[in-house]
Amino acid sequence: GETLPKPSSRRVLTVANQKGGVGKTTSTVNLAAALALHGLTVLVVDLDPQGNASTALGVEHHSGVSSIYEVLLGELPLADAVQTSPESERLLCVPATIDLAGAEIELVSLVAREARLKNALDGATMDRLGVDFVLIDCPPSLGLLTVNALVAATEVLIPIQCEYYALEGVGQLLKNLELVQAHLNPALHVSTILLTMYDGRTKLSDQVANEVRRHFGEVVLRTVIPRSVKISEAPGYGQTVLTYDPGSRGAMSYLDAGREVAVRGDVTLRPQDTTTGGD
Ligand code: ADP
Ligand code: MG
Repeated sequence: GETLPKPSSRRVLTVANQKGGVGKTTSTVNLAAALALHGLTVLVVDLDPQGNASTALGVEHHSGVSSIYEVLLGELPLADAVQTSPESERLLCVPATIDLAGAEIELVSLVAREARLKNALDGATMDRLGVDFVLIDCPPSLGLLTVNALVAATEVLIPIQCEYYALEGVGQLLKNLELVQAHLNPALHVSTILLTMYDGRTKLSDQVANEVRRHFGEVVLRTVIPRSVKISEAPGYGQTVLTYDPGSRGAMSYLDAGREVAVRGDVTLRPQDTTTGGD
């Protein structure tokens, strides 16, 4: 793909939505691959004990592999847990292993328990790795792992499924983001909303898309990700859809979404947009 300009300063995005199955992991890995194809260096941090992002990026994450778990516990510098995806030398990943499932509890008694990830992603390490974008894939709950992601990031990317109950939980998410912003990370804001699993054959998809655009305005990307079998098949091959089927509609849509994220830069959700958001 064409090379996009590097952001003037490194961008750190947390991909969050407390609902499971909305496309968090799929969007994290495919946007990361898209940005890498556009010439940018991207670090994906897998913060979900399921390790689905690690799987999709084709990096090892069986128990015993150096992972984000040891990094959060302070046993390993982040750089020592970074792997390069076979898809691109510019696509880096700190994997999650099943060990991470215990971290929610183990972190509780540690100092600076909410800032472990932020501290691990220090500027010198990121500069040395040449990272332009950090994308953090969250588990579907608001525990200490997600709080670490929200403290480490400045931007939140919310994937919203074009389905029934799309906005269910989004109001709660926005309230939680406000709490984190007020108490832990004043710079945190929603910069990007991505509509996923859009089905052009159904009226519902259009209705949801329109409603989300009405509520959230310009933070919603113009690009919409279609429901696509290729997108759902790719992780089974340890690949992003951009490698699995580069010509597919799904691949093109993530390529477009990545370009849009990079070109438009950081956008801030206006406060009045949040008041009507969801339940
Ligand atoms: P989350 O991380 O929010 O739990 P996932 O990204 O794992 O959600 O997606 C949930 C399921 O939906 C997965 O099986 C995934 O392959 C599938 N999926 C995600 N996006 C799409 C899409 N655009 N088209 C078809 N299937 C999708
Ligand atoms: Mg996931």
